Amino acid sequence: TESAEELIARRDAVVARVQEHYFAHPPRIERGWRHHLLDTSGMAYLDMVNNVAVVGHSHPRVTAAASRQLGLLNTNSRFSYDGMVTYAERIVELLPEPLDTVFFVNSGSEAVDLALRIVRSVTGRKDTICLAGGYHGWSTATDEISTTLNDNPHSRGTRPPWVHLAPMPNLFRGEHRGADAADRYADAVRSIVAQIPGGPAAFVAEPLSGNAGGVEIPPGYLPQVYESVRAAGGLVVSDEVQVGYGRTGGDFWGFQMHGVVPDVVTMAKAAGNGHPIGFVVTRREIAEQFSSQGSFFSSVGGSPVSSAVGVAVLDVLRDEGLQENAARIGAHLSTRLEALRERHSLIGCIHGRGLYQGVELVRDPETLEPATEEATAICERLRELGVIEHATGDYSNVLKVKPPLCITRDSADFFVDRLDEVLSAGW
Ligand code: PMP
Repeated sequence: TESAEELIARRDAVVARVQEHYFAHPPRIERGWRHHLLDTSGMAYLDMVNNVAVVGHSHPRVTAAASRQLGLLNTNSRFSYDGMVTYAERIVELLPEPLDTVFFVNSGSEAVDLALRIVRSVTGRKDTICLAGGYHGWSTATDEISTTLNDNPHSRGTRPPWVHLAPMPNLFRGEHRGADAADRYADAVRSIVAQIPGGPAAFVAEPLSGNAGGVEIPPGYLPQVYESVRAAGGLVVSDEVQVGYGRTGGDFWGFQMHGVVPDVVTMAKAAGNGHPIGFVVTRREIAEQFSSQGSFFSSVGGSPVSSAVGVAVLDVLRDEGLQENAARIGAHLSTRLEALRERHSLIGCIHGRGLYQGVELVRDPETLEPATEEATAICERLRELGVIEHATGDYSNVLKVKPPLCITRDSADFFVDRLDEVLSAGW
């Protein structure tokens, strides 16, 4: 059979190299099952990074729903069929009032792109404030508000004048870390808002910063930012593409942990468990205003198959108590990772909550110099030991802890034990 190296050589010949893949020498993955992946040599890996396969890889109920619907009807979304309506009803049931109107697309980039179009169209403004260190998609408009991608050579230096960066109050690392960070940073946002002639169209942010490495935003910051943006006539968008669907354990949506309700919510990734699904939810009034200003059509956004898959994912999340599992296993992981931090000086901080955590690696606990090369080497070593890991954050030094929500306690322990082994033995 073809080796992993041969597959990469074939891939490099026909697929653009800029399309990222994990690892310098990635295993050749053949199938997934729950929170595990199997390669062609029969080696099993624990998948610690997959926030797409939220209910687990190859879930039989999701697979059955997809194949049943695919054999019955799949078409572009301009036809009238029950699936899209049922799916929208299920989504709206999960959101607080007044978020009651859904738009269907196929990915996170499309969802945030559409959200930007909606907020700019209904406010008649373009200026957008986003949180430093965020990522919201690859499309032209979402790339502009993604600072991580803007640090990429392909788009460096291209942030347009209508995009404003709100500081990210990272309590571990940053200019003004400390107990009053939320208030200080909110003051900074108030002055950004005040300096935008005509006012901002919107503030767009994740409620827990995924691309910074699962970094929590301190309580009090988002409520103040939402208030100042709204006072200036702007709208607020919560990008739930990574945090939504119960991943943080405590709430179904990330914004709920801040006690706020946004005007627009964007969701994708977990929604389809790997099938391309994205959606935007807003208030009827905003949706009506946008609808009166032009047309919108996504060929297969909310298609019969996407809707069937989307409903099946929500059913499994509920029936298998996966949000509760995220809380339970997340708490267990926090305790065990904190204990590991006390024994290994390379671990600077455990970020996040639930099944959305980050293990930040630093060379020096005083200077917080990022342990970037170490993180890459540790991921490679963990792979050899059967754990799929990947580093993220501004310095690629934060190990992601974002497994499927069906992960068991034994598997969580397996991850921590392997990490302990690598940190103790060297990498
Ligand atoms: N928003 C956030 C918060 C994301 O993490 C991502 C993807 N990493 C996106 C949007 C874009 O989603 P997609 O890759 O599905 O286009």
